[in-house]
Amino acid sequence: MKCIKNLSQLVTLAPALKKDGRNLVPNDLDIITDGAIVFNEQEILWVGKTTDLPVQYHNIDTISKPGHVLTPELVDAHTHLVFAGDRSHEYTMRLNGADYQTIANNGGGILNTMQATLMASEDELFALAKSRIETIQLYGIGSLEIKSGYALTYDGELKLTRVINRLKQHFAPKIQIHNTFMAAHAVPVTFKSSSEYMDQVVFKLLANKEVLGCIDSVDIFYEQGYFTTDDTYNLFKHCQNLNIPVRIHADEFNDNQGAIIACEFKALSADHLLCTGLDGVSKLAQSNTVAVLLPGTAYFLGKPLANAKAFLSSGCKVALASDFNPGSCHCDNLILIASIAAKNMGFNIAELWAAITLNAACALNLKQQGALVPGLKPRFSIFQTNSIDQVTYNWGKNFAVTL
Ligand SMILES: [Zn+2]
Repeated sequence: MKCIKNLSQLVTLAPALKKDGRNLVPNDLDIITDGAIVFNEQEILWVGKTTDLPVQYHNIDTISKPGHVLTPELVDAHTHLVFAGDRSHEYTMRLNGADYQTIANNGGGILNTMQATLMASEDELFALAKSRIETIQLYGIGSLEIKSGYALTYDGELKLTRVINRLKQHFAPKIQIHNTFMAAHAVPVTFKSSSEYMDQVVFKLLANKEVLGCIDSVDIFYEQGYFTTDDTYNLFKHCQNLNIPVRIHADEFNDNQGAIIACEFKALSADHLLCTGLDGVSKLAQSNTVAVLLPGTAYFLGKPLANAKAFLSSGCKVALASDFNPGSCHCDNLILIASIAAKNMGFNIAELWAAITLNAACALNLKQQGALVPGLKPRFSIFQTNSIDQVTYNWGKNFAVTL
């Protein structure tokens, strides 16, 4: 049993948990000043003011942390962080006026990452991703989703799923990794159609016992020019039969009803949602599917950000994630993403913190965390500052520390 006491602020998000992460007002943060928390390995036992600490906890293993803020654990619910290669040159080409096609003609784009990822060994990919996660850990992130999808061949995607599984074992229990199978990320030019690729790569992998034994969910890039409505329905029906949760890249380029399909299949999350119409927003609001917004990507590409206000005000569960990937958002810092989102997208402070803790955890099916209340898992992040206001106010600065 352990106690952390004298915290400048302990942010419980207990009211936000009660409201299922929806329709939050600033007070739903629930800030306890001079806070204390008691927990064992499995669960939180007590939360309150240090001065109210029950006598039975006075002589247990205790750490005093004045000048620190404790929050529910930060969760990054959308990353593509297993890849090889370097696309920084492409970024410079883009700054200098090159368009997508010119970059692709010069060997850039997703094909560049695909070739480098296919060439890299399992050990090399593991080492690259491990070092990225070691950096991410420094931001206070304790749970992390990782998608496969940069190899786009049967053997290559099997390799990526194995790498994510190795990372999951390596970082547990300190970092919980959610292994998302996303071989349906793009269609290589060697295939005649997306359905041919689905049959020859995606469904074959989903018949492989090793893959089925280590994945936590399945994702698809449901966008014009990538995968069709039929591909998405076929995949989701297949996953439903196998009892595997699904999630979807939806409505990024146009409103193709991705959010609505997500709700139909009780997806864990629908992600991007830059162009979702009001019908999609209202379906999401009535569902348990988390709307995962990825402002880093729109920001990096110079596109308008998602209409977060529409999702928040209609009662959706909204999360923010990094979308860390080599092409459209090479940013691994979730708190920086939250700082960008805050005023630009209209999050109040409770909506903002629920989006990177409680609701992000929900998108990863982590039901036993996301708020600091007795009975939930003792998963939290700690920041060296006197006030939670400082954490996203100082955008780009990292206050996270380890105990
Ligand atoms: Zn993505």
